Amino acid sequence: AAKAAGRDQAQFFSDEMERVVQRRRTVEIDLQAALKHGGLSLYYQPLFSCSSNEVTGVEALLRWTHPTEGPIAPSEFIPIAEEAGLMPALGSWVLEQAFADSARLPDLEMSINLSPAQLRNAGIEDHLASLIQRHGVRPGRIIFEITENVLLNSSASTTKTMAFIRNLGFKIALDDFGTGYSSLRYLCDFKFDRLKIDRSFVTGINQTGNTFAIAQSAVQLGRHLGMDVVAEGVETEADATVMRFLGCTALQGYYFARPMPIERLEAAVREFARARPLAAGGAA
Ligand code: C2E
Ligand code: MG
Ligand code: MG
Ligand code: MG
Repeated sequence: AAKAAGRDQAQFFSDEMERVVQRRRTVEIDLQAALKHGGLSLYYQPLFSCSSNEVTGVEALLRWTHPTEGPIAPSEFIPIAEEAGLMPALGSWVLEQAFADSARLPDLEMSINLSPAQLRNAGIEDHLASLIQRHGVRPGRIIFEITENVLLNSSASTTKTMAFIRNLGFKIALDDFGTGYSSLRYLCDFKFDRLKIDRSFVTGINQTGNTFAIAQSAVQLGRHLGMDVVAEGVETEADATVMRFLGCTALQGYYFARPMPIERLEAAVREFARARPLAAGGAA
């Protein structure tokens, strides 16, 4: 009986592995089709300045609507694209679209996520330089978000590319701070303009407990190093109040606005500007 159970279990695992492998292959092939024939889009999520209570920037977030399966989450398809070698192409698509859209949002900063594979890609430097030329965008308005994974196995060429990006006048943010294999050493070795506190330290934060102490220290660390500090994952008024109290420069999260298509964003920004005096406490 034990032997039969073992066999069943082995069968279960091989079925499960087969399913995972099949899923990856489908995603990979269908993503390539989406790059050629469409199905990709960018959504934008506003960032709210704590000093002005205004929308001062947006983060570009990739969306993929599969022709038969509907929307697939970036947390599923981006890691697959990264491993399959599709990320340079997918990332280039994002850059082109985000730079084109940034002309429609002239008063806002634009954050764009850059993956490890994109930063390792030999063509990235020329591509970024050509984007400035072709779109006439002021580089200081663009903030590239990278995660600690980029730095974990960083080579001399990654470091060189990051320096190149900053020399062009772009800004760089460290995304998802506090997750992954964080090392404070990174903050000594690289110059970041912005620190984004991961939402696992933000959503549901209250004034007691370890999360509060860690979030407080992270905000102070960023501020002491001269960085902007942005809290992601602000879902409630209480989250916003605490993160503002801790000294964040800006807040981002469902409490303020979800990611949305650019058409809706333009209307939402106008609406926020009208509502702001009330949001700030009634002073017109
Ligand atoms: P991220 O860069 O940390 O982006 C923030 C994620 O948090 C987004 O998820 C956003 O929709 C979500 N979010 C924002 N506010 C809240 C909130 O209040 N609560 C919760 N629970 N979530 C919130 P999304 O769009 O699903 O993207 C997930 C991740 O996929 C991103 O995390 C980023 O790492 C990656 N990603 C998305 N677009 C791109 C892209 O164009 N290029 C690259 N390389 N990565 C991307
Ligand atoms: Mg990000
Ligand atoms: Mg993030
Ligand atoms: Mg995150």
